[in-house]
Amino acid sequence: MSNDPRLTLQDALQLLDAVVGDAQDAIVIADAVGVVHSLSAAGALSLGLAHSAAVGKNLADVAPAVLDGLQGTMALVRLDGMTRRAPVEWPDGNTFQATVVPAPGLGPLMVFHNASELKPRDWMDLVTVVSHDLKAPLSVLYGYAHMLNDTPELSARSHALVSALIENVDRMHDLIQSLLDLAQIEAGMGGEAEPCDLVKLINNAREMLERQAQDKRQALTFELAPVSPVMTNPVRLTQVIYNLVGNAIKYTPSGGRIRVATEQSADQVRLVVKDNGPGIPLSVQPRLYEKFYRGEEATGNTDGTGLGLAIVKSIVESYGGSVWVESQPGEGSTFGCALPVPPDDPVP
Ligand code: ADP
Repeated sequence: MSNDPRLTLQDALQLLDAVVGDAQDAIVIADAVGVVHSLSAAGALSLGLAHSAAVGKNLADVAPAVLDGLQGTMALVRLDGMTRRAPVEWPDGNTFQATVVPAPGLGPLMVFHNASELKPRDWMDLVTVVSHDLKAPLSVLYGYAHMLNDTPELSARSHALVSALIENVDRMHDLIQSLLDLAQIEAGMGGEAEPCDLVKLINNAREMLERQAQDKRQALTFELAPVSPVMTNPVRLTQVIYNLVGNAIKYTPSGGRIRVATEQSADQVRLVVKDNGPGIPLSVQPRLYEKFYRGEEATGNTDGTGLGLAIVKSIVESYGGSVWVESQPGEGSTFGCALPVPPDDPVP
């Protein structure tokens, strides 16, 4: 590939092929009628085919139940243009995750990924693969797609396609970053603990959070009582603040209210984020901090990976703390975390 900025969409799609083709996971990408366009070697194997035989094959011939089972999801994506995910039974007996992505002008694309339970060793292997084999080519793809988007002679339709490509590369990048964060934290490599002033870290993040809330005309208020230093990593604790307050902004409708508070008891420092958004049914509350869990309302209506709260939980627990949620539909939600005060630190 040359550095000529007038790259074709074909070049960008070939790059996508290279990214998917190199992945060690089973990944299969098919168009709206089920024709397979890109897949990894493991993806071809999962269909019982050689890679060359699998490209161009219709899923109707090799995995008819999968295609039939997704018709409802495809219809919804066609209707409102929102990405949707669903688990599907793959012909090799595994459970795959199907992501149906709208592609302007092409109809929905189906991305299948082996979502089988990962053993800890596989988990670390996967992280190594995504960090080295996926993140770098994805950055290249992102760069080329931007160059392509800036090409003046692109038609309006090509611009729409490239913009969709950029948006989805962005999402993949967020997902990869979140997975890497989780793996690092779970492997005990979340970062050195040092005395952290929660109030100071909230104040550092405040300007950016206020800007996000202003964009939704929300009232974001801070009630920051002085608290003792807690032994955590400042970068990770800042991530907790951004995730909890960011979620409150994201899930609370325009014009809503969000309150961020710090509290202290004899042995705990707490961060409490309260919103007057939609609230969450009691039945799903135990699942909120699980990896990849997204509420039904969230899927399709808001961008996200379902990893934000799992990251919060991993960070807080890795420094000896705990997380909680209190919520009722129609009454808003309160998310919080508590971190231990080092034994000989006086209450301020
Ligand atoms: P994501 O935001 O990427 O979906 P998270 O792990 O941050 O993932 O959150 C998991 C789910 O918890 C969300 O999909 C949403 O359903 C729910 N949720 C999180 N924060 C709130 C909130 N403040 N109000 C209502 N629902 C929330």
